[in-house]
Amino acid sequence: MHVLITGGAGFIGSHLVQLHMERGDTVHVIDNLSTGRKANIAPYLEYDNFRLSEADLLVWDGLDKAVAWSDRIYHMAAVVGVKRVLEDPVKVMSTNVAGTERLLRAVNNGAWNPQVVIASSSEVYGFNPEAGFSEESDLLFKSTGHLRWSYAATKLVDEYLAFAYARQFNLNITIARLFNTVGPRQLGRYGMVLPNFISQAIRNEPITVYGDGSQTRSFCDVRDTAAALDLLAGCAQAYDEVVNVGNDEEISIRGLAELVRERSESSSPIITIPYLEAYGEEFDDVTHRRPVLTKLHKLTGFTHQWTLTDTIDDMIARKRKIIELAV
Ligand code: UDP
Repeated sequence: MHVLITGGAGFIGSHLVQLHMERGDTVHVIDNLSTGRKANIAPYLEYDNFRLSEADLLVWDGLDKAVAWSDRIYHMAAVVGVKRVLEDPVKVMSTNVAGTERLLRAVNNGAWNPQVVIASSSEVYGFNPEAGFSEESDLLFKSTGHLRWSYAATKLVDEYLAFAYARQFNLNITIARLFNTVGPRQLGRYGMVLPNFISQAIRNEPITVYGDGSQTRSFCDVRDTAAALDLLAGCAQAYDEVVNVGNDEEISIRGLAELVRERSESSSPIITIPYLEAYGEEFDDVTHRRPVLTKLHKLTGFTHQWTLTDTIDDMIARKRKIIELAV
């Protein structure tokens, strides 16, 4: 199988690369290496069945050809992380919307009808007060002056674009709403909580809980996420559908800090930092976010291989190794 992965040098994309390379498929990655890293795909750079195009999806002149060659496309290229949205909202809007539109146009122009997975985000559920979010749940936002929600808005536009192309031109497109993906190769640089906590705990530095720590999240190991995306891409019943992808175990952020401290046998104190200090402005944090996974299970029979504790242990071991090697 020929697989095209936009954003394939990124955290999630590179795990899709690994999955398909291990299967013996031919893989083409397009990535501008803005947040993705060559190191993530380094093991494959010399393989004949692997190709990296270091380019910007918005202007890359090889897109039509790469799309025409593909049996399957994962569209993972996006600017992610709410901190990035606050720092550079223009970049987020243009990359996330124009990139997706350009890709879908190329798919539609091609003679072939590949399997396409578009990565969306659980951020689209916004402030919905329900305890668990199913694909039919309402999406609740604030007025547009709150730029913090612009990331969610870009993903919403991506979803509408995907549905529009799928329905109008009969394309094989599935939208995956990803819920807090964690695991190896994730960087704390863009504010992601688990790599931050692990770095802090290993160094016995204070673990920084934003707000009061009662907010909850459901974390899914990236290897499970990649496996679920692969199953969805190959599932004809999932075309023209939006599907939650994540893990439905829920934990508070304070609970996460305690678990990381315990698993790393750290002496770090756990401190709370007001949102104003953490994000540089009053921040509308989401109080809870748990996926209802009935649709994913029904369509694909997917089951998780990784518990949160296993993921944390694995990330701690890898981080310790990196620190050891650097000394
Ligand atoms: N968070 C935290 N400490 C950190 C980084 C993040 O307490 O060092 C909190 C953040 O405010 C949010 C949760 O952890 O409540 C998850 O944040 P992340 O940016 O990883 O993902 P989000 O769910 O916000 O997209």
